Amino acid sequence: MTIELVLLGTGNPLPDRDRAGAATLVRAGGRTILIDAGRAVCMRLVAVGVLPMMLDAVLLTHLHSDHICDLNDVVTTQWVMSPVPKPLRVVGPPRTGEVMEGLAKMLRPDVEYRLAHHADLTWEPQVDVVEVNPGVVLDEDGLRVIAARTDHRPVEPTLGYRVEFDHKSVVVGGDTVPCAGLDELCQGADVYVQTVLREDLVRMVPMQRFVDTIDYHSTVAQAAQTAARGGVRTLVLTHQIPTPGIGAKDEWIAAAREHFDGDIIFGEDLTSVSV
Ligand SMILES: [Zn+2]
Ligand SMILES: [Zn+2]
Repeated sequence: MTIELVLLGTGNPLPDRDRAGAATLVRAGGRTILIDAGRAVCMRLVAVGVLPMMLDAVLLTHLHSDHICDLNDVVTTQWVMSPVPKPLRVVGPPRTGEVMEGLAKMLRPDVEYRLAHHADLTWEPQVDVVEVNPGVVLDEDGLRVIAARTDHRPVEPTLGYRVEFDHKSVVVGGDTVPCAGLDELCQGADVYVQTVLREDLVRMVPMQRFVDTIDYHSTVAQAAQTAARGGVRTLVLTHQIPTPGIGAKDEWIAAAREHFDGDIIFGEDLTSVSV
């Protein structure tokens, strides 16, 4: 096993008892990387034996709430469980610093309570924020992370990430419609994880703001077409909109199969793929 990828949360913004919010774990070369930190991310991390203090980096695809709403839990838990000061590296698109400043402000009373109470906790949460643009955003001991611009307008800028190690690669596209940046990331990738939407089902929902989500997500067909163009080995469907009912898995896979011949995985929480 060269790279292990685990879908920690496959939910969309609507709460669901079986699906946590957007979050994906990637482990390779002794490094542990979290991509996005949606609802219940810490619960799903411990389910695969990872504590927040074990994370080498948190990468954010974009600053929509469903992808970052439990980042505060990652920051706090990393801080209170670390025996010595250890900065949490948070890599994301421009404005990530603004979000982290707001988060620090929100956590201020908690930080003061704990510092006052625990004699052995003498440091505040330490977060290294790195705002990045497309290109190589991490390159350490053979592990490389490449970011590319995606298209989730009017949310911008947004990023997709490709993690490479030992000639293997996995891509986490994030919320995006097909675009050149995503195609670049996917070229020859072993695994491509895409947040997807079923336009046929969403169109039937009598609520404008739900139908609006069609504007800026890949449909299952589009994700499969991106996978085919990139020649990827395995397509993983996640963050499914609308939330699939019981037994719907085959329908989603069939919709992708029309456009892609490779392996197709219907993501559920804690689905893992190794390459
Ligand atoms: Zn989004
Ligand atoms: Zn989303």
